[in-house]
Amino acid sequence: MNEIFDLIVLGAGSGGIATARRAASYGARVAIIESGRLGGTCVNVGCVPKKVMWNAASLAHGLEMAGDYGFKLSRHGFDWPVMKKKRDDYIVRLNEIYQRNLDLDEIKMFQGHGRLVDTHTIEVVDPHNQASEKLAIEGRHVLIATGGRPSVPDIPGAEYGITSDGFFELEELPERVVVVGAGYIAVELAGVLNQLGSEVTMILRNESFLRTFDASLRETLMEEMMNAGVNILSCTHMNRIEKQENGNLHIVSSHSEDIRDIDCLIWAIGRSSNTDDIGLDKIGIETTSAGFIETDDQQNTAVDGVYAVGDITGRAALTPVAIAAGRRLADRLFNHQTDAKLDYDNIPSVVFSHPPIGTVGMAEDEARERYGQVKIYQSRFTNMINALSEQKPKSLIKMITAGAKEKVVGIHVIGEGADEIVQGFAVAIRMGAHKTDLDNTVAIHPTASEELVLLS
Ligand code: FAD
Ligand code: NDP
Repeated sequence: MNEIFDLIVLGAGSGGIATARRAASYGARVAIIESGRLGGTCVNVGCVPKKVMWNAASLAHGLEMAGDYGFKLSRHGFDWPVMKKKRDDYIVRLNEIYQRNLDLDEIKMFQGHGRLVDTHTIEVVDPHNQASEKLAIEGRHVLIATGGRPSVPDIPGAEYGITSDGFFELEELPERVVVVGAGYIAVELAGVLNQLGSEVTMILRNESFLRTFDASLRETLMEEMMNAGVNILSCTHMNRIEKQENGNLHIVSSHSEDIRDIDCLIWAIGRSSNTDDIGLDKIGIETTSAGFIETDDQQNTAVDGVYAVGDITGRAALTPVAIAAGRRLADRLFNHQTDAKLDYDNIPSVVFSHPPIGTVGMAEDEARERYGQVKIYQSRFTNMINALSEQKPKSLIKMITAGAKEKVVGIHVIGEGADEIVQGFAVAIRMGAHKTDLDNTVAIHPTASEELVLLS
């Protein structure tokens, strides 16, 4: 006998769980289907373990700097397996908390691969008995929140590389690493490994990384990463990878010199959507050429009663975005908030690079194109934490305003603390702040964030 639900959610990641729990809070009968581990990408192979690694790398950097303050400490003696075990245990605890929360909310969890049969039915394929165990459950509303997976290029020897998923399985700190790619993940993993002591080469197919970010941010980060010892090869195309007799990798690229003796190659060239085997053809949903499911501004797909949130929609692939879109969808479907929808403008984000980046609003070139006349305020300075050090990494704070009243349309920060600075300023931008509002705010001294209210 089929079970009936008000909402069936396909994928228990950031977006799926948030939608399911908000819907259940309004009394909806909810089922959620997950083929992997509860919590999805963010909890298991994304934000959470990445932030733990970033914290470890930041501590390594801090230990190095501690000598400048008179501490007789050394960064030697870092035990990767100890850190990995504690990190993995932490994630298991989070998985358990997620399960407990679903139980408390009386959300029914199905473990297996979910696939749409028609607009109201999803079959769940039991992972232990692929052929026969199929369970059909019915629902009035179906949410697709199946996220994505790392992409691997189609070149000879690509299988010798790992992706961000494999990075979190590494049992030891690799010695010589090549990271291919130019987005968030490439710069974050390259930064972590470099700070922890690996010799890191980044391979970019274009001139620079983070090409959609404000130019001042990416130029500063390139400079700081190179100063910190990361070798960056721009405009380089990968041809093939060969395994050497000693088990290490030999990378053949368009760069004039071959790269040999690499013990870890990481592909960080973007992610592919999990849309290929979920039965979209059965209900008439077509994906975009990049494999995303298109939705309108209230997360409706082209088919009535079927919705999509999160990475699968191809819009701002960030955990808080998936969560916010899902919660608003549940508010609309189960709590009569007919206009509820996520505003996708001015979404802040942080790149956990070394040094970190915090950004909200438009990049300078984007703002010039949109508004024509813009004003740029910028401050480059050395963070006071480096006052006693020989090394003087540069921090940068940039504000972009538009119109005669100087509405703030972009804030971009790179440097120590940038990851924690931008959230509050994102609120100001959402509220329509003007440059004068920042000018009239008293500074907090001595901090890096005070630079934002002292720009002239
Ligand atoms: P997911 O979290 O990917 O969840 C989808 C779930 O669906 C998965 O659990 C999957 O197993 C399941 N699934 C797929 N197909 C099926 C099926 N057929 N049947 C059943 N289940 C299925 N974002 C941030 O905001 N901050 C960060 O610092 C950050 N760091 C990141 C670091 C890395 C290395 C990566 C890879 C991503 C990072 N992200 C970060 C992005 C963030 O993880 C994603 O935007 C977010 O997880 C998207 O949520 P989602 O619900 O759309 O998909
Ligand atoms: P991104 O899409 O951000 O970046 C991948 C980049 O790799 C592309 O932009 C492209 O850059 C380059 N690339 C693509 N194909 C190739 C190729 N064949 N060879 C070499 N380079 C290639 O993907 P990520 O996987 O880094 O991250 C996915 C998403 O996850 C991010 O966009 C972000 O939304 C989210 N995320 C968020 C984080 C955070 O909030 N801190 C952290 C990690 C991920 P180009 O065109 O310039 O060559």
